[in-house]
Amino acid sequence: MEASCGDTHGVEVREIGGSKGKGLFALCKFSAGETIFEERPLVCSQFLWNQAYGYLACDYCMRPLETAEENAQRLSSNRQLVLPYPQCCNTKKENHVNCSQCEVSYCSVACQSLAWEQYHRVLCFGGSGGDSNHPLEQLQVAWRNVHYPPETASIMLIARMIATVKQAKDKEGAIHLFSQFCHSTVNEEEQIAHKLLGERFQVQLEQLRELLSKALFEECIYHWFTPEGFRSLIALVGTNGQGVGTSPLSVWTKNCDALDLPTEEKQHLNEFIDHLYEEVDKETGAFLNNEGSGLYPLQSSCNHSCVPNAEATFPYSNFVLVMEAVKDIEPGEEIVVCYLDDCNRHRSRHSRIKMLRYVKAIF
Ligand SMILES: [Zn+2]
Ligand SMILES: [Zn+2]
Repeated sequence: MEASCGDTHGVEVREIGGSKGKGLFALCKFSAGETIFEERPLVCSQFLWNQAYGYLACDYCMRPLETAEENAQRLSSNRQLVLPYPQCCNTKKENHVNCSQCEVSYCSVACQSLAWEQYHRVLCFGGSGGDSNHPLEQLQVAWRNVHYPPETASIMLIARMIATVKQAKDKEGAIHLFSQFCHSTVNEEEQIAHKLLGERFQVQLEQLRELLSKALFEECIYHWFTPEGFRSLIALVGTNGQGVGTSPLSVWTKNCDALDLPTEEKQHLNEFIDHLYEEVDKETGAFLNNEGSGLYPLQSSCNHSCVPNAEATFPYSNFVLVMEAVKDIEPGEEIVVCYLDDCNRHRSRHSRIKMLRYVKAIF
């Protein structure tokens, strides 16, 4: 196997003209299974319904805050359920912290301070336990009322973009970071599949815009708050938002899978896991993960193909995206991924089911 170029040096964004605008190209060879690049999102946010249903994730990096056992109990509606091999659960409650001024939680002090420095100073308020008249609270209620699950975007991603600009020492620099996503959003509504931009949602969209302006208006990005600018923002998160899914139960399952156990014990464990996923499937269906979306500069420059040569994965159980080659990729070849649910092999809500199949297939 040839060595990869490491980090993000192995790829390059190129202008390719036409309707695609730009694309991401390999500068060296990547073998199937190899990491092409890793990146953090500029902003990321859990979906609001997902949050409302009790999925607990770090407010900054989306790392699960429930233990695998708590997660399994909730998803299977069985409070008595006990998971064996608790050492396979990666949730470290001793590291969790809450914002001292509002109710949001983080997986670590590091995430808390990164959120505070980037956008949470502007967005910190009482949340659902506090003032229900707060414009940010009203904004979230309004969003939940127009966008039922399955969710594809969040108004809070837009709120975090705005708050990032508001807090930035270098506002122009922050605006520039987001402008790299804007190429595909201006006056291309016919290409944008976001339902909120349809005629039926005009009134709701206007209501969201007013609440957002009331909560977060900022002079240097006044154009984001105009009707046209706001539609572009919705289109931006709809078009560029990458789904992020994390699950403590899936991490536990993976770690169990890696345990070196005597054959009989292994078989016993796998039967337990199979049965557990069947129970969860009965209660919860495919709605298994902490889910949200994020804006990733490199990932969003990858064009779509139904025959992709790469796919986005989240192996650290947080918002860090690892783009993995699914085929051998030659230098100069374009990196293409599949955007669409029905041909995407790794969309978060399907990955647990895929994992279940995997567990079944090998034992
Ligand atoms: Zn975190
Ligand atoms: Zn706070």
